[in-house]
Amino acid sequence: MSSSVGYDSAAPRTLRLRIDTAALAENWRTLDRLSRSAKAGAAIKADCYGLGVATCLPVLLNAGADHFFVAHWSEVAEASGYVEPSQLSVLHGPVTEEQARFAQICGAVPVINSIEQAKIWREAGGGRCQLMVDTGINRLGVRLQDLADPAIQALDVDVLMSHLACADEDSPMNARQLHAFKTALGAVRHKSASLANSAGIVIGPEYHRDLTRPGLALYGGIPRPELADVIRQVAFPEVMAIQTHELTAGDTVGYNAEFTAVRDMRVATVSLGYADGFLRSWNDEGWLEFGGQKLALLGKISMDMVVVDCTEAPDLSAGDWLNVPYFLPDAAQQSTLSQYELLTVLGQRFG
Ligand SMILES: *Cc1c(COP(=O)(O)O)cnc(C)c1O
Repeated sequence: MSSSVGYDSAAPRTLRLRIDTAALAENWRTLDRLSRSAKAGAAIKADCYGLGVATCLPVLLNAGADHFFVAHWSEVAEASGYVEPSQLSVLHGPVTEEQARFAQICGAVPVINSIEQAKIWREAGGGRCQLMVDTGINRLGVRLQDLADPAIQALDVDVLMSHLACADEDSPMNARQLHAFKTALGAVRHKSASLANSAGIVIGPEYHRDLTRPGLALYGGIPRPELADVIRQVAFPEVMAIQTHELTAGDTVGYNAEFTAVRDMRVATVSLGYADGFLRSWNDEGWLEFGGQKLALLGKISMDMVVVDCTEAPDLSAGDWLNVPYFLPDAAQQSTLSQYELLTVLGQRFG
């Protein structure tokens, strides 16, 4: 490592991600309450959906969560700084012998997703695990007809789980998956059961079982209207203006001169680009907010910069902070990205 690390971490930033930790805690408690007799866990994969394990995991823990889901083995180390490895499930499971050995050493709980994984896990020493049954998503999980396999029957299954494909819609698929899950519950010995993600929590109590697995809604996502009035925004990206310009009619802005000023105007260049997760799909209707005003995006979004019209915000100058509109249901409509993508694309340069 270079000797610059010490001051890099203290370097002034022009992007910051404000996390409303009170809203995060309240969202977990709300989802736990909505899970009724089931207990809510928390999906913390992908660095808590991009919002930061170091910021979010202690808050979730303090709110009362005690079981957490990551996707990768590489995500265990950081999370283990806050919780016991035995409180962590690794959703991708042990794909290779090396991963199964790692699981044995680190103590996180593998989610077994196939007969192959069951064998790899047993050969590495076996022990407590969780079992993902595929009830129709056809992504990860043991198929119903394979549950009778001796390798599956020999597992020490703590949580038997499945994952809903369409919980954010009123789809007949939900009831079909629930029915298949009930069949699976009768086919494998297990201590507890888990089916619902965020959206699954509000489609009916029969989806709750013992443990729910919210992710998106913890972080302010609203996958179904039932959650609209109870889930609060958690992530607030804030971005610095780094220069202002006066344009005269006929001047153009940005790459490929896509925007042409039809009148004299004042514009601000802002430190936010597609490398920070502000993708070009925002362009058409996009705006940033300053002092309660919406400032329209002009021209193409660059890697590190975007230009906004600040004619109506004469006070705005370099060094001022603007808000990125990140109320997720609205931002998803405007950007054409999903609420999940909006959270997880936020780049490394946000501090
Ligand atoms: C990501 C994930 C979740 C959380 O889903 P949300 O829709 O974000 O609430 C739950 N279970 C599994 C298996 C997942 O992969």
